[in-house]
Amino acid sequence: MFKAILIEKDDAGYRASLKELTDAELPEGDVTVSVSHSTLNYKDGLAISGRSPVVRKFPMVPGIDLVGTVESSQHPNFKAGDAVLLNGWGVGETHWGGLAQKARLRGDWLIPLPKAFSPQQAMAIGTAGYTAMLCILALERQGITPDQGEVLVTGAAGGVGSVAIAVLAKLGYSVVAVSGRLEERDFLTHLGAKEILDRAEFSSPGKPLARERWAAAIDVVGSQTLVNVCASMRYRGVVTACGLAGGMDFPATVAPFILRGITLVGIDSVMCPREDRLIAWQRLAQDLDPNKLALITQEIPLADAIATAEKLLNGQVRGRVVVDLN
Ligand code: NDP
Repeated sequence: MFKAILIEKDDAGYRASLKELTDAELPEGDVTVSVSHSTLNYKDGLAISGRSPVVRKFPMVPGIDLVGTVESSQHPNFKAGDAVLLNGWGVGETHWGGLAQKARLRGDWLIPLPKAFSPQQAMAIGTAGYTAMLCILALERQGITPDQGEVLVTGAAGGVGSVAIAVLAKLGYSVVAVSGRLEERDFLTHLGAKEILDRAEFSSPGKPLARERWAAAIDVVGSQTLVNVCASMRYRGVVTACGLAGGMDFPATVAPFILRGITLVGIDSVMCPREDRLIAWQRLAQDLDPNKLALITQEIPLADAIATAEKLLNGQVRGRVVVDLN
């Protein structure tokens, strides 16, 4: 028997609860992992609450991230005892995920746990942190360097935002944070933000072109915020879009694109190719200060995951949540 969060949907409705499951119930896969830690990302909050149709098959164990030790493997790259890490690939959406003490997965989805990180640290980073790194790699690919000017990070006190600020600051960027939680000013400053702006400044419809300010931006909010970020980019500025915390819509004009030559880069972590994942994790090992990571992380037991998921969706969780499955 092992403990898991199970999401069910039937005539009685949509619900998530803590259950005891058996190995025989695990889905198909060529690697069985004893999971030590998982996390709560925004998407896990959506899955657990049922607020968005993240879960595609029922019953489902949520959890888009996990770290653990291989129990048994038919995959050539992995053997019993290996420490492994998983982010995305539809796990926790279409295949049972990490919020369980055991998982059976496709070995092709796994990467070795990077030596630089403990299991807790890897989950403190999780999909949110690895996505923040994908955003920074995309900015670099577009030629952005610290000397070009300020970089804006929205959803700053959340998971993607807080890791993005810590890494950008370590790389020497001048980071401006946008947050709805101005009481987190000290936290954001400590992570490396040199200025904090109220998210209310970005959430109402603005002009198609605003004052040129940002050389680059990492947006997790979408909707009107992303529109206003695009409108205030400097000539040839670069914006990465990875999130929809403020909404899925994008009520923009083409003005910043055709008059200022800005670039909007979409970021997807779920189906991101293995080679890019390995690069992102290697760069996190190099460019994320472990002390900052500790600052942004809180750890909870599996029994608290459902209540914490609700808080996360309500914007009441700061930084990252690690779920201890031991
Ligand atoms: P978190 O909940 O940790 O952070 C989101 C932050 O956004 C909040 O902390 C809050 O920051 C801000 N926010 C929340 N609601 C609103 C709102 N209504 N309007 C404006 N700002 C808001 O989530 P994550 O960091 O894990 O994820 C952020 C987004 O990125 C999510 O939409 C998630 O789905 C997406 N994502 C996408 C990935 C991809 O592959 N494309 C991978 C990972 C995440 P503050 O309080 O500072 O304002």
